[in-house]
Amino acid sequence: MAKYVYLFKEGNQTMRNLLGGKGANLAEMTNLGMPVPQGFTVTTEACTRYYEDGQKIADDILAEIDQALAKTEAATGKKFGDSHNPFLVSVRSGARASMPGMMDTILNLGLNDEVVKGLAKLTNNPRFAYDSYRRFIQMFADVVMEIPKSNFEAILDHQKEAKNVEQDTDLDASDMEKIVQLYLEKYQELKGDKFPQNPKIQLIEAVKAVFRSWDNPRANTYRRLNNIPYEWGTAVNVQSMVFGNMGDDSGTGVAFTRDPSTGEKVLYGEYLFNAQGEDVVAGIRTPKPISELQKDNPEIYRQFHEISSKLEAHYRDMQDMEFTIEKGKLYMLQTRNGKRTAQAALKIAIDLVEEGLLSETEALLKVEPKQLDSLLHPQFDPSALKKAKVVATGLNASPGAATGRAVFTAERAQELAKKGQPVILVRQETSPEDIEGMAVAKGVLTSRGGMTSHAAVVARGMGTCCVAGAGKIKVYEEKRYFEVNGQKYNEGDFISLDGSTGNIYGEQIKTVDASVSGDFAKLMAWADKYRALKVRTNADNPRDAKQAYAFGAEGIGLCRTEHMFFEADRIPAMREMIVANNVKERQAALNKLLPMQKQDFIGLYEAMQGYPVTIRYLDPPLHEFLPTEDEDIAELAKDMGITFDELKATVISLHETNPMLGHRGVRLSITYPEIAVMQTTAVIEAAIEVNKRGMHVAPEIMIPLVGEIKELKYVKDIVIKTADEIIKKNNVKLDYLVGTMIEIPRAALLADEIATEAEFFSFGTNDLTQMTFGFSRDDAGKFLADYYQKKIFESDPFAHVDQKGVGKLMDLACKLGKSVRPDLKLGICGEHGGDPASVEFCHDIGLSYVSCSPFRVPLARLAAAHANIKRPRK
Ligand code: ADP
Ligand code: MG
Ligand code: MG
Repeated sequence: MAKYVYLFKEGNQTMRNLLGGKGANLAEMTNLGMPVPQGFTVTTEACTRYYEDGQKIADDILAEIDQALAKTEAATGKKFGDSHNPFLVSVRSGARASMPGMMDTILNLGLNDEVVKGLAKLTNNPRFAYDSYRRFIQMFADVVMEIPKSNFEAILDHQKEAKNVEQDTDLDASDMEKIVQLYLEKYQELKGDKFPQNPKIQLIEAVKAVFRSWDNPRANTYRRLNNIPYEWGTAVNVQSMVFGNMGDDSGTGVAFTRDPSTGEKVLYGEYLFNAQGEDVVAGIRTPKPISELQKDNPEIYRQFHEISSKLEAHYRDMQDMEFTIEKGKLYMLQTRNGKRTAQAALKIAIDLVEEGLLSETEALLKVEPKQLDSLLHPQFDPSALKKAKVVATGLNASPGAATGRAVFTAERAQELAKKGQPVILVRQETSPEDIEGMAVAKGVLTSRGGMTSHAAVVARGMGTCCVAGAGKIKVYEEKRYFEVNGQKYNEGDFISLDGSTGNIYGEQIKTVDASVSGDFAKLMAWADKYRALKVRTNADNPRDAKQAYAFGAEGIGLCRTEHMFFEADRIPAMREMIVANNVKERQAALNKLLPMQKQDFIGLYEAMQGYPVTIRYLDPPLHEFLPTEDEDIAELAKDMGITFDELKATVISLHETNPMLGHRGVRLSITYPEIAVMQTTAVIEAAIEVNKRGMHVAPEIMIPLVGEIKELKYVKDIVIKTADEIIKKNNVKLDYLVGTMIEIPRAALLADEIATEAEFFSFGTNDLTQMTFGFSRDDAGKFLADYYQKKIFESDPFAHVDQKGVGKLMDLACKLGKSVRPDLKLGICGEHGGDPASVEFCHDIGLSYVSCSPFRVPLARLAAAHANIKRPRK
């Protein structure tokens, strides 16, 4: 029979899937003999069952909870509901992957009107007892009964005002007792029922609330942003309480074994005296840095330091720990691998190798490919930064340089970001509701909260620049402005943040591109040593190609030739080509395009310094190039010496109902073979020219949207005839390949046939995904949101390869292709080439390379190394 409940001493760190991260680590710390308050974990499988059973906890699970509770009571010598020796617990969620701030913890459960009196007597500390009870009422009401905490906070604030004090700690026992009374009344007023007095009912309701919270919108959003599957479920930890709010010999805190911003090896954290739970991170009272604990209580500091070193060595990674001190005794409440900035991740990985704790491959696996993103983003231009004026300074919570328009709500951030505007989200403090706004913002600025506040933790996780706790600025979220030094900044005004220094600027500051050097370069060199996949880039111009080369690209996997023709000085010739009425006219226009195209290719070959360059022939529906407004049509007609009506008729005739499935790709070269001739001439002449200067370019010509072998053969024959004539005429040797994209399901199914002509395959997974699902790429965004909400899809198939369906076609095409052409080169050039999970998949099905946009090249190199370390290629 399945076991659904484990005492901490029955578990260990390998049981993460079952016990969740928090539960597994509480068990592990217990086994290591560390001071952990006792308790038990209700498993993730119990959560899954809860949903399977129609949101009910089955009787067998309830019985197991009862047993575990009895054992824990016996071990502590306390009892639920016993006012002479009450047992109080915390109820804590904990999924496999840590989801900070996503699900709420309930503390001091087990208190009721009687027990609180007993606790007051027992501890001889009524202030503590009533403080604990009022916290419990608020948390229980909020998390279990969904009564907004603002109802209770208002009461507390009112009480503080009445006494004319600022801090909770300034309230005494009778104030707390009064507050409890008012809380209980408020609860009853809003709920209609009395606050539940039976601790067992409190417990079961709390467990259910944790299970429910797995499915709340915030958790769903966080999972989608972080690719955490819904099926995993969350565990629930029930742990006997220890109290940091028993007076000045008690306290609570959080700490990292290394600085999570820089990676420096120092104990780093914050704590508060006479406080409980989230007080440290909530930003209500300003916590003290952990280094002061050394002065305040040297013995506790020493113990904590020793435990943290032990934990780091044990987990062989930087740890993020939570602790509580009760009347001078230290308790450990949590440890986990700490979230860190990309910079810190690199430094820690490299330091741990140098300290002999990790091997190079283990260190590589400690760095998330996605994290590298933030290192590749622009930095402030040093000279522009020097001239800029610092208007205030906050905590350097997450590094990076951000310039954007100030916005004051997550919704507004999303609206403006959708329009392509850079935004900086400015809040007093952030909460989980702000996550989607934070995800689209260039930077986050808060006026409250510390280095472990929600804003700081989440921004670091996302790699977004963040300046937190800038107390000097006054944020008026509802009125949409902030004020500092008497100066007002309204919504839409440009500001800048430096997440490395904490500086805030009231203006736009120029940024410059990032480079790969120092720790970054070192880690990338390790990645290159261990990967099997090559990494190329998608680039259409020398600037992007050079950037990608600097980031380590080993060639171009996709050059979209049509992109070269959108520029103002080129589009007229392109338009002439499209509206030409006969071959002669078309040829004249193509003759104008040829030298430009040739020049482009020379630039690309040079930027790639001899690495392979794959050039895709003209692909998009032609009408994309045509003017739509009558005014523009009139102007073009004039330029071309034809009448408005003539041109308008052509434009109308080119209209397609389904352009994505229309006259595009190889179909264009079939109708207008002279386009393929021109493009081949440019590709080959450009290669001959650079090779004359001592390079060794072997161009790869790629025919898009092939679904039938005869299509490919028809165009390939034209390409070869044209190329060979030019090569012969120049009397040189030149290698080149002709291959195809695999982006139509039929081509994948018939890949063995296609490979008899194609010398390489490149998976165009954007179109392949579109056509496998039958989802229009241009329209899917409109309805995919419903798919996520209804749990039909967990992620966007255009962002992560659908391994099951699209991936099956890819795998099949690789096998079929190789069966007739064992040395077939295999690549991918869709957007997926820069998605870590998709890169790993490409490794697994045996591709030769992935190709992605320049800024994703380092990420792909690291993801390729991860794949080969985890599943080495033979
Ligand atoms: P989160 O996952 O959001 O960090 P936790 O379950 O870790 O939530 O709980 C938040 C905080 O509540 C802890 O950091 C700790 O301060 C406090 N807490 C949790 N359990 C206990 C306990 N048994 N005794 C005392 N404090 C606790
Ligand atoms: Mg915690
Ligand atoms: Mg395509």
